[in-house]
Amino acid sequence: MDLLTIGEFARLSRLSPKALRLYDELGLLRPAQVDPTTGYRYYQPEQLERARLVLWLRRIGMPLATVREVCDRDPASAAAEIRAFWAEVEEDTAARRDLVTFLVDHLSRRGDPAPDIAPAAHRWAIRYAALTDAGRVRPTNQDAVLAGSHVLAVADGFGTDGAAASTAAVDAIGALESTPVAADLLNLLEDAALQANEAIRGIAESRAGVGTTLTAMLWSGTQLALVHIGDSRAYLLRDGELLQITHDHTLVQSMVDDGRLSAAEAESHPQRSLLVKALAGDPENATPDLHLHDARPGDRYVLCSDGLSAVVPDTEIRELLSAAASPEDATRELVAAAIGAGGPDNVSCVVADVVEPAW
Ligand code: MG
Repeated sequence: MDLLTIGEFARLSRLSPKALRLYDELGLLRPAQVDPTTGYRYYQPEQLERARLVLWLRRIGMPLATVREVCDRDPASAAAEIRAFWAEVEEDTAARRDLVTFLVDHLSRRGDPAPDIAPAAHRWAIRYAALTDAGRVRPTNQDAVLAGSHVLAVADGFGTDGAAASTAAVDAIGALESTPVAADLLNLLEDAALQANEAIRGIAESRAGVGTTLTAMLWSGTQLALVHIGDSRAYLLRDGELLQITHDHTLVQSMVDDGRLSAAEAESHPQRSLLVKALAGDPENATPDLHLHDARPGDRYVLCSDGLSAVVPDTEIRELLSAAASPEDATRELVAAAIGAGGPDNVSCVVADVVEPAW
């Protein structure tokens, strides 16, 4: 069969001759023949399929090393690799989108005499309640909760002294209750989470495998800043709709994100509580998610441990939250629902309503 010159191959594949020379050097797309005298490269027409795949993969921003791996795989595993690459891109984009929102908001408010802190007349208040229960199976309660006029937190400890870890996490957040709320809500929360991780590192020195989740909020008067790591959750009930505003850091959730598991399969997966990130003293896996939420009067925020979300479906959580007259009633109803569903784990929740201040 006639070989194609590099010029013809470049035209047909839409890859430039310069790119083709680079891909040859990297072993990604070797020419079928190289003229020993002139050094000209020649390609077989069958190589066009691989060249087009390379072009498409480059267009989605895949690094060359990964492109080579995908090209060397069979179609099914190449498809799985592309899906996994894209899930990573989307996760990274989502994290950067949150940071962009924060930065735009932060910089837009510079010059304001009290940035990020609304004047008293424009602030709302929160009404809150917290409740935790050991459940019906576990001998001890390793969850910890906190609710105050500025901070809300749920932590779910694990390991031989999980209660010490969850208490350390909640204490680090609790210290913000008396800190004047500055412009940098997210930095305050991130620092608190890192301090908690350091404290847990100390505990883990004598008790290996100890750690905790942490889902916490800091209230500015108009905004709620959220820090989150692990599989405890935050939900928002707004206009009758329940929205989960945290992303579980579990192995099964990352498999769902990669398209390797369906949401329904994840619910009954034997390893559904295996965490990929937590505060366990290791700084590598302790980077929390951070978000900033503009609150509205009428919003009802809920933080809970997996002792609630694993056994009470979201539809029931929404109904109970919608029907409860006060945060106290809501926490009681939610904990009772988890215990009614067998109470296999410690169960905790914090509920906070955003309200017009009564003055
Ligand atoms: Mg739990």
